[in-house]
Amino acid sequence: MADFIPFALPTIGDEEIDEVVRTIRSGWLTTGPQARRFEAEFAAYLGRRHAVAVNSATAGLHLALEAIGVGPGDVVITTVFTFTATAEVIRYLNATPVFIDINPKTKNMDVQALKAALHRHAGRVKAVIPVHFAGLACEMGEILECAKKSGAVVVEDAAHALPTRSAGRLIGSFGDITVFSFYATKTLATGEGGMIVTDDDRWAERMRVMRLHGISKDAFGRYSDQKPSWHYEVVAPGYKYNLTDVAAALGIQQLRKVEAMHERRVEIAAAYLAGLASLPLELPYSDGLASHAWHLFTIELLLDRIDIGRDEFIGELMKAGVGVSVHFIPLNRHPYWRQSCGLDDQDFPVATDKFLRTVSLPIYPRMTKAHVERVIGAVAGLCERHAVAA
Ligand SMILES: *Cc1c(COP(=O)(O)O)cnc(C)c1O
Repeated sequence: MADFIPFALPTIGDEEIDEVVRTIRSGWLTTGPQARRFEAEFAAYLGRRHAVAVNSATAGLHLALEAIGVGPGDVVITTVFTFTATAEVIRYLNATPVFIDINPKTKNMDVQALKAALHRHAGRVKAVIPVHFAGLACEMGEILECAKKSGAVVVEDAAHALPTRSAGRLIGSFGDITVFSFYATKTLATGEGGMIVTDDDRWAERMRVMRLHGISKDAFGRYSDQKPSWHYEVVAPGYKYNLTDVAAALGIQQLRKVEAMHERRVEIAAAYLAGLASLPLELPYSDGLASHAWHLFTIELLLDRIDIGRDEFIGELMKAGVGVSVHFIPLNRHPYWRQSCGLDDQDFPVATDKFLRTVSLPIYPRMTKAHVERVIGAVAGLCERHAVAA
């Protein structure tokens, strides 16, 4: 058998390795000058006032909700078609998640359902968390507008969305608060890591304090001209969410490649869209190939045109040496969310239907043309072998 094509691989070159080695040799391992430099360069890339580096997007989402004051009794609206991290942070703060279904074309939050949920929970909604699924921008204009009217803050889960463009503007370059993930499989990878961006000074200040044990050096500075280096004040029971300088070193070099890596993803997406076009599959929607980050390339099987189920389809692709995955097992299919929120598949028909038919194909800059052709060949071969007469 030809060698296995993994589902995901990071693009780590000598630049990243050299930067990490320099950092380790500097003697500074935890949060320090590299993390501050990564924040400054990330903020500049998106043209934002603040970038707050954290050790995961999950931590970032938690800090964002905490900073805007989400607490018991508050409602936070998000979709079921996401990773559990998006919703678990709502639980950390003892707030109430309200889940809505997705749009069948984009697999992003259904804006009509959002408007209905904002109306249903009027006065209680503190935040809305849209997820830019696979790297396709949500309808941000409408989402920001209807959230604002309801007095809710929009905290974007942009774990898939670097770089994603919405009407020409980068996701993260506008809006209330945007959270990125640098998990090993994401488009910018530091192993573990994340970044929160915002223009709001008070939210940024709160997130910086809560990221590191609720320690404020500034609080002390307000009362004294002399600031001994050993002194600090704890102003809240914070968390331990800071990003290490070793991870930041990877991030600094990865950020320099982010557009080049994206170009390669766009090329692969274009090859998939062309190569899979005539098959009994639904292919991902994009509003312009280059606007989509292409963190994921998901296909949906048209199950009335082939005599093979999704799970078997995945088994066959794996046997053919193609690593694949499923995004997402929606939250209404997980025991915790089903039981604690009373979620029922019938209330999320689009997410449930997509889940039952979806397969995520490998897409990353290190894939060669031959890899891409092998994936297309394997998918096409399976579809042909299992075609049912129309
Ligand atoms: C990866 C991911 C997260 C979590 O990111 P971490 O950095 O691993 O915490 C959150 N939301 C979505 C949609 C993701 O894909």
